[in-house]
Amino acid sequence: EITHSYAYQATELVQMLWQVQEKLSYIPTAAIDSFAEILKLPRAYVAGVAGFYSFFHDSPRGQYDIYFSDNIIEHLQGKPQLMDYLLQKLKVEIGKPRADGRVTIDNTACIGMSDQGPAMLVNGYTVTQLTQAKLDKIAELIETQTPLSHWPTEFFQVQDNIQHKHILLGEPLEEGLAIRVMLARGTDATLAEIEKSGLRGCGGAGFKTATKWAFCRNTHADERYVVCNADEGEPGTFKDRVLLQSYADLVFEGMTVCARIIGAHQGFLYLRGEYRYLLQPLEAVLAKRREQGLLGEQILGNPNFSFDIKIHLGAGAYVCGAELALIESLEGKRGVPRNRPPFPVTQGYLNKPTVVNNVETFALAARIAVYGGDGFAALGTKQSKGTKLLSISGDCLRPGIYEFPFGVSVREVLEACGAQDTQAVQISGAAGTCLSAKEFDRKIAFEDVATGGSVMIFNRQRDLLEVVRNFAHFFVHESCGFCTPCRVGTSLLKNLVEKVYTGHGTADDLKDMSHISQILKTASHCGLGQTASNHIADTLKKFPEVYRKRLLVEADFEPAFDLDSALEEARQITGRRDELAYL
Ligand code: SF4
Repeated sequence: EITHSYAYQATELVQMLWQVQEKLSYIPTAAIDSFAEILKLPRAYVAGVAGFYSFFHDSPRGQYDIYFSDNIIEHLQGKPQLMDYLLQKLKVEIGKPRADGRVTIDNTACIGMSDQGPAMLVNGYTVTQLTQAKLDKIAELIETQTPLSHWPTEFFQVQDNIQHKHILLGEPLEEGLAIRVMLARGTDATLAEIEKSGLRGCGGAGFKTATKWAFCRNTHADERYVVCNADEGEPGTFKDRVLLQSYADLVFEGMTVCARIIGAHQGFLYLRGEYRYLLQPLEAVLAKRREQGLLGEQILGNPNFSFDIKIHLGAGAYVCGAELALIESLEGKRGVPRNRPPFPVTQGYLNKPTVVNNVETFALAARIAVYGGDGFAALGTKQSKGTKLLSISGDCLRPGIYEFPFGVSVREVLEACGAQDTQAVQISGAAGTCLSAKEFDRKIAFEDVATGGSVMIFNRQRDLLEVVRNFAHFFVHESCGFCTPCRVGTSLLKNLVEKVYTGHGTADDLKDMSHISQILKTASHCGLGQTASNHIADTLKKFPEVYRKRLLVEADFEPAFDLDSALEEARQITGRRDELAYL
């Protein structure tokens, strides 16, 4: 039935697995066997896909499946204590369903709510601003088996928290206007406006949007695709959430403009699994646009203009935010990043030319299609035109979304959000840059501090080693395991951070951390591994005292592993007494 509803397309495997996961709370072996048989795929392939994504499980979960967001900001706001409280209240062990099958409680990476945390997912739906009182009520609802649809609606309200608007978040655009203006102006002239605007990809890499679209258009092919990357998994980022929640028309409009320019008929929005709650509202926006003639066959009555958009739900894999992994996932595979070249603009989805841009880029492109490129290019700096959305969270009075022209200094950002006594600012998530107070005059711009938009603020009362530790655990969890430097390196770094954190670290350990960080940077297969040690390298350099004050001063070296006690179990089993074996 499920395979039939997806027209037996193997590219839809992740979506089919979602259907099973949501119906049964896990993916049984029988389902894997059936998919393999019906879709004519090797069983190991299907099992490999099911095993790759953290929201898919091979054993039953609780009727209420809860994930606490383990973002560092929420961690510092009391998430561990709240989680312990609920675990005890419901008498559940972390990660294990309660004996009566009622509930499971687990951790997950940042769910994009750090401006209104601590937050959690319950059966995929977001509950924000957790307090002990709210957890008492939730525990009661769970014990009485109250369906989610009868829980207080305010539990599931997600605020936009827009604190500062500029051109993107300013006046709303009339629906369909960008498409109408583009059709009147012509595709060449519209692409010229995007070129003139200087718009660059807002995900952080900053490739010129017009150049990417032109490459794709000029690549000979019988089909091309448009993909919107809505898999913002960088801890501390939530701007796409706001755009998709309140500006979805603008995003779809930008995708449609792109489709007309490059000659695509099919688009995909890759929605991160953590934003499951946005799936139905986004489907409703798409349905409305089809009724308005803004999507589907013969858009606005143009016989040669057909384009539609499908939503693909991710399943909890940070690496899929990278376009080369995202395309694999979109094709129903494990999200292991492809090699490049070739680049997606020439060989992307199904090896056809594909434009992959993020949510913010498409929304900006729609505005530029209406108003032209000059106004946009007049804002920002020489190499970074226009504005940037920042997701600001942490130690400040007004967390939320801020839209600033590029070139704004970190200090101005801190003033705007009411941050005081700031020790460090982590820009661009766990993989980004950690700035010390000496660097607060640096500018948010591709030529200085480039960012996908996450800004996490830590005041002087915070222990930065706690931050480093959280990021180190995050990368171990998110490494896809494909290449050794990242798979092993992230684990080694996490162990060393733990050793220092628990007071067993030595000067030698800090040297090892620097050395391993460098190996990750230079030898990893993709951007995840190449940036996974940035936070360690940055903090070792800029905040050495954070590490030094935790070191064992009397020793250069302390073993990380107690071989003698590790052998004890084997000794007991075999009855051997060889206490000096390790020598
Ligand atoms: Fe996977 Fe990490 Fe290697 Fe990237 S660097 S392919 S995430 S193991």
